[in-house]
Amino acid sequence: EEVVNRIAAGEIVQRPANALKELIENSLDAHSNNIIITVKAGGLKYLQIQDNGTGIRSDNLDIVCERFTTSKLKQYEDLQAISTYGFRGEALASISHIAHLTILTKTANEKCAYKASYENGKLKGPIKPCAGNNGTQITVEDLFYNVIARKRALRSPNEEYTHIMEVVGGYAIHNSHVGFTLKKFGENTDIKTPIKSSVIDNVRIIHGNTIARELLEIEYCDPKLHLKLNGYITNVNYSHKKGAMLLFINHRLVDSISIRKAVDSVYATYLPKNAHSFVYLSIELDPKNVDVNVHPTKHEVQFLYEEQIIEKIKNTIEKKLLSCNS
Ligand code: ADP
Ligand code: MG
Repeated sequence: EEVVNRIAAGEIVQRPANALKELIENSLDAHSNNIIITVKAGGLKYLQIQDNGTGIRSDNLDIVCERFTTSKLKQYEDLQAISTYGFRGEALASISHIAHLTILTKTANEKCAYKASYENGKLKGPIKPCAGNNGTQITVEDLFYNVIARKRALRSPNEEYTHIMEVVGGYAIHNSHVGFTLKKFGENTDIKTPIKSSVIDNVRIIHGNTIARELLEIEYCDPKLHLKLNGYITNVNYSHKKGAMLLFINHRLVDSISIRKAVDSVYATYLPKNAHSFVYLSIELDPKNVDVNVHPTKHEVQFLYEEQIIEKIKNTIEKKLLSCNS
């Protein structure tokens, strides 16, 4: 059974950036407004996230890594009406099966912080009272230490760090009210956004001024499709060596090949060759129409009325580019 759990966990967490995404979403769920991430060896050796959110009550620490027991699912009558990030209750459990996981946490109501370590979904050793600030610090060490094949496949800490930068950068832009810091252990800070920043300021911090200064805001709403679209896109006047596409659906960083293709096809008409666009889209859909049954690991998201919704996205972007370049 242990092996089965480990294999399942290795499917959910395919690389350090996947684990980090879940941990960031937990911190956001806990209403943090400052999140500090520290990494060693692309997150393979060490991945730590410190937040200033609600903390975890000490009497929940014994079960917090047990699969599904803590899932917010149980609080919902209608499973499809889920709107918070956390609805699966298996992120911490999964991580604890394939890494050494330590939680240090303090709620505002408790006098001190508590520290606990986990292995295979279970508490390992006693819960120890200790000093600490309000909030939660989660440390993941030696990720995939017991999944040799996965460990072998992920040989480049630099590449893993690039994925981590993408995840942190994406969430920082999408959650500009939250401060994000990313650094390699003992080295300079690579990303630092202030608390209560703005999307444009965070794009400037993360992607540079050339992209930030030509951002165009887009907005669209279609009550019939239960679609709300917001975002920022670059104009076509400048050419960028590097482009980026940040896609959030219901506040979760996801990928959609069909949306990506659609956006590229709009830009293809306007952009000079070898130029790239920066596109940040926040799409809100009726959670009922987004497939939450797709395995949580699936970065690729599925949703209903895809064709109509993609058409609206294309139109919105095209209109904006036309109105600014005519
Ligand atoms: P889920 O988020 O789906 O409930 P997780 O395994 O991601 O499942 O987290 C389990 C539980 O641990 C959460 O429901 C939450 O109660 C608690 N938790 C995890 N991370 C944090 C955090 N950073 N701050 C406060 N509570 C947390
Ligand atoms: Mg979660």
